[in-house]
Amino acid sequence: MASKGISFLNGKVKNGIVYLSWYKTTPLFECNEQDEFSEFSVYRKCADDFAFGSDYEEFFCGMLPESSDLIYCGPVECSNKRKYLFHDKQVEIGKVYAYFVKSRTMPAVGPVPLKIRDPEVWWSYETLKSRLLQLQQDYPAIVNLQTCGRTVEGREIFSLKVGAGATVLGLAGAMHPGEAGPELIISALEQVLHESPATLKNSAIAVIPSINLDIRERLAQGNPWYLRKNSAGVDLNRNFPVNWEDIGQGYGLSTDDPDSATYRGAFPASEPEVKAVMKFFADSKPAVIFSFHALAGICDIPAIGAGNVDQSDSEFYERSKRFVKAYGTGLHPELKPDDSWLAFAGSGGSLLCWAWHELRIPAFDLELSMSIAPEALQKCRIDHTDCDLLKEYSIRHSRAIINILNLYNGKR
Ligand SMILES: [Zn+2]
Repeated sequence: MASKGISFLNGKVKNGIVYLSWYKTTPLFECNEQDEFSEFSVYRKCADDFAFGSDYEEFFCGMLPESSDLIYCGPVECSNKRKYLFHDKQVEIGKVYAYFVKSRTMPAVGPVPLKIRDPEVWWSYETLKSRLLQLQQDYPAIVNLQTCGRTVEGREIFSLKVGAGATVLGLAGAMHPGEAGPELIISALEQVLHESPATLKNSAIAVIPSINLDIRERLAQGNPWYLRKNSAGVDLNRNFPVNWEDIGQGYGLSTDDPDSATYRGAFPASEPEVKAVMKFFADSKPAVIFSFHALAGICDIPAIGAGNVDQSDSEFYERSKRFVKAYGTGLHPELKPDDSWLAFAGSGGSLLCWAWHELRIPAFDLELSMSIAPEALQKCRIDHTDCDLLKEYSIRHSRAIINILNLYNGKR
């Protein structure tokens, strides 16, 4: 006899509604047990003390249904004589919940932890695709939407060329899925297309709005904690085939350790997402790339450049300074340009290293600094980015994009 009535309990959030599914266990399905499944109890616990960025999966391990709320008791419709589906609409955006399900007499199963994220702030794959198609439909002459590869799980990686001229600027989003990307990039591009279409007559932007799409989808569907690697367990920003052999120890994590959040992968460019990024930027040849990072939703100055470039390479430093000054003054027209806007970090296997060594173009990770945006930073790092903050930052980034395009004034 089985010790539990339920197996494969699973949960997903879609458009602010929680969908739970579970199955009868194999022994009870095989002996055609009916009574045990004539009714189910669904319990829900609010995990108000869960902290994004510091709490992870283990926060929920061993959690028991005691002191949780019984939100449903009764029959649940069955498909294929084995699978049950239940949905919960009475949830609040921004909250984290743990769900448990119990058949009539056997112990409860769970928890299934879920965070209800605002679907306007964390786009699903479906939303991303429809926003991109809309953009192409609105500006058919200058927006060219394509696919530059597929993820480990087989999702199409979308790429865009926006503009009629030579490619000046490259943008990359969600290399790390729990960080900034498509929502900010696409909203900023919409702004540029709407307000300054003339800038794009003689120049163009090459864009991969979301690289780590598999894990991004997991976050959009309610995974509560920060995620960084792809679905094969590799940190994509340590997998590029330049200085990959240099083992990094940043954050107290070792890039050759498969358990660590910065694992570089089994060999250079092992990941299909990295191959797609390399091919796309090698083909489109922008003059500079900005890659969007920082926890949960928005990013800003400082821009981090490749730190392992030969110190005597003044060309690299001069170009880096010029690009970061232009981008930074677009983000912050209210501030005086400052040397602290540009910093360098030397992670082997990063997009930054690869872009300079292979394409001879500077690339930067955009992060967030306490001195630039304290309130935004606070909201963002605990996964409380909201529509207003996203809107404010998409306007800031649209100005920054225009500044970079204007550096070339149609000449490339
Ligand atoms: Zn990052």
